Amino acid sequence: MKTKSTPTHVHLETFGCQMNEYDSELVRSLMKQDGFVFTDERERADVILMNTCAIRENAHNKVYKHLSELKKLKRQRPLVVGVLGCMAQNLKEELTDIQPLVDVLAGPDAYRQLPMLIRNAMRSQEEGLDQKGLAVDLSEYETYHDVIPDRNDGVNAWIAVMRGCDNFCSFCVVPYTRGRERSRDPEGIVQEAHRIAEQGFKQITLLGQNVNSYRFGDWDFTQLITAVADVPGIERVRFTSPHPKDFPPSLLDAVVSHPNICKQIHLPLQSGSDRMLVLMNRTYTNKEYRTLVDRIRTLRSDIVLTTDIICGFCGESDEEFAETYRLVNETRFHSAFIFKYSERKNTIAARKFSDDVSETVKTERVTRLFDLQRNIAYERNREYLKMTIPVLVEGDAKRSAAQGMGKSDGNITVIWDKCTVPSQPGDMISLAIYDASSTTLYAERPPVN
Ligand code: SF4
Repeated sequence: MKTKSTPTHVHLETFGCQMNEYDSELVRSLMKQDGFVFTDERERADVILMNTCAIRENAHNKVYKHLSELKKLKRQRPLVVGVLGCMAQNLKEELTDIQPLVDVLAGPDAYRQLPMLIRNAMRSQEEGLDQKGLAVDLSEYETYHDVIPDRNDGVNAWIAVMRGCDNFCSFCVVPYTRGRERSRDPEGIVQEAHRIAEQGFKQITLLGQNVNSYRFGDWDFTQLITAVADVPGIERVRFTSPHPKDFPPSLLDAVVSHPNICKQIHLPLQSGSDRMLVLMNRTYTNKEYRTLVDRIRTLRSDIVLTTDIICGFCGESDEEFAETYRLVNETRFHSAFIFKYSERKNTIAARKFSDDVSETVKTERVTRLFDLQRNIAYERNREYLKMTIPVLVEGDAKRSAAQGMGKSDGNITVIWDKCTVPSQPGDMISLAIYDASSTTLYAERPPVN
């Protein structure tokens, strides 16, 4: 048995969305308070945890691949393996039965129990027993409001302002894996924003599965985001992921007029076909979505709009896909996440509809839409040529430490040579854009007037 003088080393891997990244910060915080030590090296770890995502097939497959790699490691030495997050919640039978190597399963509302579950699993292993630690109950109240996340990044800090979702889009597992909507109290959020500013973070991203449906007493999302944007020292506030149904005029006014709220809105479309939108339970039509886009652009023509789209949802015909294609062509998003539909266990779509669009057709539709969107993004990004824009420096570019990397207000990646424009992460600098690809703006020192 490990004693207090020999700390237990934990390696934590995170898959999926920003909410999962944030939850991993909560997990690290809760476990460090209990004496666990984190390591980046899998080989040194006594405990390997995977914080999983069940929304996309890709993330789901990666977790299974990682689990099979751990089998070998576990045969060589004592090792506790834990699966956290949405897959733990959604696939509990499968993971405990098909994967006997998993010792601990903890759903997104059960992280406070994690230290206890892990210590029990370690004890059970030492005693030659094979007891699983399982905590997958969903809570109506858990918001982790009192847990200070163990943050890594020095520029952006996430705050989850609400958890869960009541929308039940038919393709989505979130309402089952993360439970019903609940919002954190605004005072605690604003206090956390002050603390974040004091720690030197420059940007806050407000997170929630359905972030703009935030409501706590009299507070709605507009009041919340304005209060956070007013915190001295915070230069940028973003939010994700919103639902198109929750954009009252007051929220749009706050976004377009508050200097610290980024002029970028992610507006998940999913489909341009009204029949698909009904089957998906998205609660808006093609026309209503277009009207919202027009309203936003009338208020502020330079706003950056991004979206999510699913191709090949149950029964999607060629003409229905063509409606999505037309809407994308006419709306001209700055960027889009485009996915093939993949059936998720336990969702309404899995229970009621047939996943009957062939893989070939899904791939062909994704490719066509992706090509279209890449061209649009290229043209959109080239609109920045010769403009001088504020850029929040994040660090070095992925490809070369000789280049700096930051984000525009609209969240577009900007790259420049550090020898011509020296900068530190967290600096807000002005850069002149001289070139652009579909994903990146290339910048230099602005000319002196
Ligand atoms: S709004 Fe729809 S897609 Fe988003 S988390 Fe809720 S159910 Fe899932």
